[in-house]
Amino acid sequence: KRKIAVMTSGGDSPGMNGAVRAVVRSTIALGHEAYCIYEGYEGLVKGGDLIKRMAWEDVRGWLSEGGTLIGTARCAEFRERPGRLAAAKNLVLNGIDGLIVCGGDGSLTGADLFRQEWTGLLEELVETEELTPDQVAPFKTLNIAGLVGSIDNDMSSTDATIGAYSSLARICQAVDYIDMTAASHQRAFVIEVMGRHCGWLAVMSGVSTGADYIFIPEKPPPEGWETQMCDTISRHRKLGKRKTIVIVAEGAIDRNLNAITSNYVMEVLVKRLKLDTRVTCLGHVQRGGTAVAYDRMLSTLQGVEAVKAIVKAKPEDPSPMIAITENKITRKPLVEAVEMTKGVARAIKSKDFAQAMHLRDAEFDE
Ligand code: ADP
Repeated sequence: KRKIAVMTSGGDSPGMNGAVRAVVRSTIALGHEAYCIYEGYEGLVKGGDLIKRMAWEDVRGWLSEGGTLIGTARCAEFRERPGRLAAAKNLVLNGIDGLIVCGGDGSLTGADLFRQEWTGLLEELVETEELTPDQVAPFKTLNIAGLVGSIDNDMSSTDATIGAYSSLARICQAVDYIDMTAASHQRAFVIEVMGRHCGWLAVMSGVSTGADYIFIPEKPPPEGWETQMCDTISRHRKLGKRKTIVIVAEGAIDRNLNAITSNYVMEVLVKRLKLDTRVTCLGHVQRGGTAVAYDRMLSTLQGVEAVKAIVKAKPEDPSPMIAITENKITRKPLVEAVEMTKGVARAIKSKDFAQAMHLRDAEFDE
């Protein structure tokens, strides 16, 4: 009988509860014991009440709940070795040797590092007499599996992260609301959406709402974009459009890596086109609320797969990240996916935008 724990870490996203529910229930269904680590890595480092055994009914109704019911946190201690030593001790004391982490690239990097250090951590715990050789003997390896929970859809090697479609739906709903008031007054709205280094939410919400112009980090607009944007908007207005929607990703930049801010875009529209323009920053509305059907399905199927990956893991296997590839649930090497994701940020920093788009698996013609 294995003891398998699940935790959520980093930014919350709708669907994380579905993932926890699926992990808990499939662990139990396969005859093992399920645990939840509360408050992300904080719970792993502190232990005690933050590590709880879960029963089947403990996760009842969780599919339709937003946020993460087991809490999440950013934990500085886990970034340092003493924090990970404390975490290893807590897992051994609870008998847990399988860990499923649902979070973004930071959380998954931490999880893989923890696995790599595992043997050394246990040796150190014995040397310092925190644990006895008998206590650590059954814990040869730590199996981990990553689930990607992020509204940004910013992880390479997977088509969708848990939460991205819920956030997209929320943005579309908000833009629909704004559309009505915008058309009534013939106004322009500059709408800022989340996504950090990733333009997925901006592009997809722009496509889904028929936005006039979109700014994303991976593909900055050409020099002199102000003229191009204004020409495009004027053309749309001449065709009878009574409102203007421009979507700005929070990480939007120009080709010199200077931020393109919503306020600057508004100034351009006011000065050049004399449009009555407002800025709406959607903020945390994009994160909250319940998960859409897609995220409930994704988190459930991926949660089940994560448990299977842990139960069947061989010591030589690289840590898996549970992905979805062309509508199939797949396993990808976690380290490679995280590296590719970090590569996008690096490519943007070095102004290699073609490479950024390539790593996003999103090549398209100008
Ligand atoms: P996300 O998982 O959404 O990318 P963060 O980057 O904030 O969010 O990471 C969440 C937590 O994961 C951090 O607070 C920290 O505890 C842990 N973590 C992130 N990066 C590392 C790392 N390189 N080594 C160890 N732990 C890390």
